[in-house]
Amino acid sequence: MARLVQKFGGTSVADVDCIKNAALRVKAEVDAGHHVAVIVSAMAGVTNQMVDLVNQMGELPDAREYDSVVSSGEQVTAGLMALALQDLGLMARSWLGWQVPIRSDTQHAKARLMDIEVEEIGTRLDRGEIAVIAGFQGIGADNRITTLGRGGSDISAVAMAGALGAERCDIYTDVDGVYTTDPRIVPKAQKIDKITYEEMLEMASLGAKVLHTRSVELAMKMGVRLQVRSTFVPDDGTFVVSEDEIVEQQEVSGVTYSRDEAKITLLRVSDNPGVAANIFGPLADANVNVDMIVQNVSENGKTTDLTFTVTRTDLKNAVSVLEAHKGEIEYDNLTADDGVAKISVVGVGMRSHAGIAQKMFQALAEKGINIQVISTSEIKVSVLVDEEYTELAVRALHTVYGLDAD
Ligand code: ASP
Ligand code: MG
Repeated sequence: MARLVQKFGGTSVADVDCIKNAALRVKAEVDAGHHVAVIVSAMAGVTNQMVDLVNQMGELPDAREYDSVVSSGEQVTAGLMALALQDLGLMARSWLGWQVPIRSDTQHAKARLMDIEVEEIGTRLDRGEIAVIAGFQGIGADNRITTLGRGGSDISAVAMAGALGAERCDIYTDVDGVYTTDPRIVPKAQKIDKITYEEMLEMASLGAKVLHTRSVELAMKMGVRLQVRSTFVPDDGTFVVSEDEIVEQQEVSGVTYSRDEAKITLLRVSDNPGVAANIFGPLADANVNVDMIVQNVSENGKTTDLTFTVTRTDLKNAVSVLEAHKGEIEYDNLTADDGVAKISVVGVGMRSHAGIAQKMFQALAEKGINIQVISTSEIKVSVLVDEEYTELAVRALHTVYGLDAD
């Protein structure tokens, strides 16, 4: 009989009724013949409360005690879920990270998983017992509780599915899948049936925040098939799988946007070896993440202009770093603009279809939208535009790549 991992996020276990409802979703899989391991998050809002309590104890808390406090929400849900399952006549017990054990490194509050011993859980699963496992937590070599970083229970679920050799890892949440774009902007957006890990990673880092990025990376590495689905409706969700499972490749699978963008231009930067290093070195030291970069060839061989983007929250910091290093960098002038948005089209189909970028530029031109910066990867084309055109651009692109629902 096949093993299955079902993970329930905070909104799926928000209160006792929700937990009972989630337990029914588990029962349905057990009745369908699966051996199930359940991973739970804390009830919605609980982890935030815990973080808040820790912060009230003072600045710079001991991260080991932070972990001890903030991991507690999952303990509560795991116990309650086991009770709900028992109530349905099923065999179930709760497991904390250290009881499994789920081993991590000792970087408290942002630990990385090392390995999971699944022997005992595996034996019990095979006997028909359901394992309800607290997500988000592990145990370090220092024998203390660790947490994996906020939103980390997705990572727990994928790692457990990999270790158990599960047929699939279902991530239950409050949306019914991954959409071709934001339905609030494009009412004709459609739920995607199947998407590749790589596309999901691009979409996730671009703002489609249904799955923790690290969990998708891990699923790709371990070959764990994922499904993002709703706890509240019975339908299939979106499957996140490897590329060879997708028979017919679309040109573009999704259109994403991000308003958390700002553009910095350095005018008349001296055109010498080492200049880019002088600019981006201090920014990296100041923890500023740089995204798109364009530099022109210089006309006179002496100076050139350089434009790049950072997040809006980093803009002030970036500007002050650049001003402080004006001497080494040698530029004339700096301009900053936070009225921009990044629009991207994503699809593994780009590897096999030509002209996808051109189609994007054409569609934007027809709407009179000026492109300020362009960047590409193997499966993504991004453009920076004036923020006020965000919706217009997303809609136009969604239509032009044939993604609108009928
Ligand atoms: N409860 C944790 C958090 O809120 C982990 C999770 O929900 O994935 O960050
Ligand atoms: Mg969560």
